[in-house]
This record gives sequence, structure tokens and C-alpha cells, in this order.
Amino acid sequence: MNEFAIIEHFFNASSIKRKDVVLGIGDDCAIVQPPPDQELLITTDTLVSGVHFLPDMAASDIGFKSLAVNLSDLAAKGAEPAWMTLALTLPKNDETWLKNFSTGLFELANRYHVQLIGGDLTKGPLSITIQAMGFAPKNQSLRRSNAKPGDLIYVSNTLGDAALGLKNSMTIAKTYQDFLIARHCRPEPRIELGKQLRDIAHASIDISDGLAADLGHILNMSHVGATVYVDRLPLSNALLASVSREEGIALALNGGDDYELCFTVAPDKAHLLNTPYTCIGKITNQPGLDLRYQDEKKYNGTQAGYKHF
Ligand SMILES: [Mg+2]
Repeated sequence: MNEFAIIEHFFNASSIKRKDVVLGIGDDCAIVQPPPDQELLITTDTLVSGVHFLPDMAASDIGFKSLAVNLSDLAAKGAEPAWMTLALTLPKNDETWLKNFSTGLFELANRYHVQLIGGDLTKGPLSITIQAMGFAPKNQSLRRSNAKPGDLIYVSNTLGDAALGLKNSMTIAKTYQDFLIARHCRPEPRIELGKQLRDIAHASIDISDGLAADLGHILNMSHVGATVYVDRLPLSNALLASVSREEGIALALNGGDDYELCFTVAPDKAHLLNTPYTCIGKITNQPGLDLRYQDEKKYNGTQAGYKHF
């Protein structure tokens, strides 16, 4: 198959078709028609073999995750996902790999009604770049920069599972391995939560590099500080069955790859959250991230998030 046949067979044919796509794959540009009174949100992420995933990761999981990390950024902004482009660099034309990759990719894309509207295929070391686009009502998108002193800090679901799943080590109890590996390979973008937070949260971010690093971005951009109680961090039964509580706390703070949302809410709006998310602390006037136990004792573990450079 040549490049055009591959794109048609493995990608265009699998994609859902949206009414707001005026022109899709096959021309120099795609043309889309965002709804009136909505603003457009655009994000991109690259996954490189050996850097973001192990070379032996299943192609279907790579397809799923490469879109999930982008949709997670849209979720953090409260956006409704709509379109994506894909730039794929492949060492060789491997049709089995392409079939599995596209199966994982479109499993997630079709669930959120995201249409593939363009892309590019090149030869080289395995790397996947997706650009995801979505929309939200004008001036209602969430930002990192709007946290206010007194806000309560919440996180969704549990933290640290993906970082432990990546290790896939023999120390993990067999009954929990599948759960932890799925948390690493198939993160669930919190799209519905993000949309719900438009009217409730002051600031929001998705946790990709670890809670400490990503909450740090909210603090820097909002010019505030925070107190977080490390023994309030939500840890799964699978995590606690596999490592000590202290190691679990370290994974939750620094492990990364969670793709859960961290958000801040004024206390008088907290009752509007209709699902029990975990309150882990509060925003303060004191610059920096103050990590403590609930008995006020200082937490002395490290707090370095994942950094590429
Ligand atoms: Mg992000």
C-alpha cells in the first residue's frame, strides 16, 4: 500500500464523520465550522518510542494513549472535543501494526465523537503527534491562572497508578497488574468532569508530570501558594496492595502519567460538585507548595516532577 492507500484504509475509513467538517482528509487543508458563540481550543502532544512509551507497548495501546493525552488537555480546559490531525512517523510499512494502532486510536476517538480531519505519514523512528481541537462557550474555558487564596484543591479518581503500572514489576500483586497496566496504557480523559467544572472551578490542569509539578503550574500562573495534605491523596487499593503508603504518596506526587484533573474551587461552590472528588488541601497566600501530613507535620519526600530537559 502507498501512503494514500494507508491513510484511506486504516484511518479515513475508520473515522466518524461530523456535520461541522466542511472538508476532511484528502485536500491541502481541512475546513471545519465551529459552532457560533463558542471558542476554539487547540492542543498537541508527541509520543516518542523509548521516551513516552516502551518500545514493546501494544500498538493498540499506543493509538489509544496518543489521543488520550491530547483529550486530557482539552478536558482540563472544559472543552468539548471535536477534531484531530495525526502526524505518524513509522520505521517501516507494517500493516499489522497500523491496523492495531488505528483500532486503539478510533476506539477512543469515536467514543468522544472526534473526527480525524488530516494527517501526515513519514518514514523514520516511531513517533506519533496528534493535534486535538475542541470548543467551549466563549469565556468559559478553564485556565491555570485563576486560582484564588481560600480555594479548595481537588483531584479526580486516584493518583500514582500509572507510574506503578509502567514498572510492571514482579512486586505487583497479580490480581492488580491488569488494573495498574491499564491505568498506564489507557488513561481515561476526564471530558465530562471538565465540562462540569466550567461553572464551578477557578483553575484546572491535567496531571501529566505528577501532582506536585502540575499543581506547581497552577500556583505559578495564579501567583498563589498551596498547602496539600499528603495523607489525603487518593491512592487505589491496587497501589496500596503493591507498595508502602509512603511509596504510594511519592508516586502520587511525582510519578506522573495520571491524566486525572487537579482543580481549585471556592468553598461556597464545593457543594456543586456532584461526584465525590478528593479535597487534598487549599490555596494560600504563601508562595510555593507546602506539603504536610494532616497532623501538620512537614512532608520531607522529594517533589520533582518528570522533566524532559
Ligand atoms: Mg496538560
